[in-house]
Amino acid sequence: MKHKSTIGNLPVYKPGKPVEEVKKELGLSEVIKLASNENPYGSSALVKDAIQAELANLSIYPDGSAGELTADLAVHLGVQKDQIIFGAGSDEIIALIARAFFVSGDETIMADQTFSVYKSNADIEGAASIEVPLVDGTHDLEGMLSKVSSKTKIIWVCNPNNPTGTIITEKELVSFMERVPSHVMVVLDEAYYEFVTDESYPETIPMLEKYSNLVILRTFSKIYGLASLRIGYGIASSEVISLINQVREPFNTTRFGQVAARAALQDQDFVKDCRDKNRQGVTYLQSEFDRLGLHYFPSQGNFILVQIGRPAAEMFDILLRQGIIIRSGFQVYPDYIRVSVGTPEQNQAFIKALEHALTPERSEV
Ligand SMILES: *Cc1c(COP(=O)(O)O)cnc(C)c1O
Repeated sequence: MKHKSTIGNLPVYKPGKPVEEVKKELGLSEVIKLASNENPYGSSALVKDAIQAELANLSIYPDGSAGELTADLAVHLGVQKDQIIFGAGSDEIIALIARAFFVSGDETIMADQTFSVYKSNADIEGAASIEVPLVDGTHDLEGMLSKVSSKTKIIWVCNPNNPTGTIITEKELVSFMERVPSHVMVVLDEAYYEFVTDESYPETIPMLEKYSNLVILRTFSKIYGLASLRIGYGIASSEVISLINQVREPFNTTRFGQVAARAALQDQDFVKDCRDKNRQGVTYLQSEFDRLGLHYFPSQGNFILVQIGRPAAEMFDILLRQGIIIRSGFQVYPDYIRVSVGTPEQNQAFIKALEHALTPERSEV
């Protein structure tokens, strides 16, 4: 069978190893997964009630336009309803943007170590990815601007960046947006927006009025703890949202995703609590890395990229055998691992296992 030529050599996305699989493979009863930046505190209690109530409607198609959720979110964000689009995670919004805008021969600009979904969707649509090296783990906006050509369609900026956790500031972003030509769309991926505590981080929703080429992506998968329900969203001008809507499948989000997201939005105390606990976790992990003399990128997300001074895949295996799943395989940072921030107990277990792995002679004492 002849497939689409652009997908010939595409890798299949490698997700974090599932807990159940690891337990079975290694005969472990306890496994700590710090690999996919999931919320270790689950989700708001309001979510479970909302889902239970929705069980009665299992056989009924969802509202394809997610009307009630859209209305709630529009109020929450202070935008118009027609400026919002929902997807099966913000992953789907990325795919929809690529599908709606890329034609073969387009160019698209992104960091050389960032969320892999931007490039894979560009590849599928036949757009050429220009990868601009991070500087100190941070987006090089000047370098990205210098790569803009008449063929450039989209620039992807992940803020905070996955996997480095670094941010670009409001000042840097505004200076960048002022100089991006209007034919180029800027997609700002703010999947970790709610975790950020650094005051220099941009508040981007108000910028939508000024920059009609700006698209913001956020998700209910991370701080809201709804990763399994697959619900994320894009915010942009009504014109851009309308175009993306034209390539959206009619029922791309579920009833459960929609009611769960509405309930989760109501519980901003949960969000704040998770943000505070995450910040404490980041502080703890970073101080332990300091103690162990390990380089890391200061993170504003719920994960940290830390240098362990040997091939990351080796450390992945060592930690896995101790029942801890982390993430390795970052091309630009082959001797770094990415660890998600867990509960204090999980973080301590991780540090203990890491320290043990780094100083094996201790086990012989
Ligand atoms: C997790 C993540 C997403 C999207 O996750 P969804 O579950 O698809 O909403 C998007 N961007 C980045 C950078 C992420 O880390």
